[in-house]
Amino acid sequence: MNLEDITTIKSILSKPQNIVIIPHKNPDGDAIGSCLGLLGFLKDKGQNAVVVAPNDYPKFLKWMPRNEQILNFEKENSEAKKALDEATVIFTLDFNDLSRTGQLETILKAKEADFIMIDHHQQPDDYAIVTYSDVSMSSTCEMVYNFIEYLGETDRITKAMAINLYTGIMTDTGSFKYRSTSSRTHRVVADLIDRGAENMEIHQRVFDTNSPSRLHLLGVALSNMVILPQYKTAYITLSQEELDDNDFKKGDTEGFVNYGLTLEGIIFAVIFIENREEGIIKISLRSIGDFSVNEFARNHFNGGGHDNAAGGRSEISMEATITKFNDILKTYKTQLNP
Ligand code: 5GP
Ligand code: MN
Repeated sequence: MNLEDITTIKSILSKPQNIVIIPHKNPDGDAIGSCLGLLGFLKDKGQNAVVVAPNDYPKFLKWMPRNEQILNFEKENSEAKKALDEATVIFTLDFNDLSRTGQLETILKAKEADFIMIDHHQQPDDYAIVTYSDVSMSSTCEMVYNFIEYLGETDRITKAMAINLYTGIMTDTGSFKYRSTSSRTHRVVADLIDRGAENMEIHQRVFDTNSPSRLHLLGVALSNMVILPQYKTAYITLSQEELDDNDFKKGDTEGFVNYGLTLEGIIFAVIFIENREEGIIKISLRSIGDFSVNEFARNHFNGGGHDNAAGGRSEISMEATITKFNDILKTYKTQLNP
């Protein structure tokens, strides 16, 4: 954010506003954490603010402070619509393009309000009056911390806000190990711990609340893994039937894709998950080093994200998707073997 952006934000927040904060569809820890952290900040400043999520989020985030106040557009539709109708300011957090909000896209595109984007994904769209976009950032939560710091108000960060921001930084950095984790990230996290985020408890609440069925599903995923050493690639498939057999709940497959990267020599890992209800194969892609999964997902699977973590989708069958993927891989042989 430059000085002009800070002045614009200060001027907007100096008046009472109806604020709606929006994460991307299928919100993850960073999306929910940044929205709730910002919600706390704006409410404590006396603003009328609410979070509207395009759809539901995983159970392992449902303990986060103030999460019960989130309006799920699919479930609390009339309340969410009313909030959007009345909104004078809309914060969009942890995504770069309104198409990432699913059903909310048309409403947001038609909406006259001051949009403020805080995000760390590549190729941000240009719809906001303030676009705070920085792809070098570990997480949107780290950026919300910076946002509050730019306003000179870090003393307003309460324990609840610290817990929310810590959670999002932790989940988006793979527990502080991904490339985007900087010394600054650790300084922010240290300050959040000082302000009341209990690190051990947060790790346990997110990572140590598995159900037996989730671990069984992980077993299926790992036995389905296909390793292609010539492309330094490993991929996993999960069919709708396999999900159903293991009592699949939203969030159960979180992190599965990363197992491919734990194999020695593998730099590209992908998981293909069938979603019969939406008629798609949802794809998650991860890489180590310079191979950009953002470009791969953007060019071939209608998606995007970051250099080392991206997502996409396929509207053909699982079998056809895997055939397509294997064909595309052939054209990346040199890039995958630098
Ligand atoms: P995940 O694989 O964990 O769902 O997402 C990895 C990263 O890619 C996240 O930063 C997420 O926001 C982004 N991402 C996931 N799915 C999509 C998609 O369909 N389109 C775009 N543009 N980004 C995605
Ligand atoms: Mn994020």
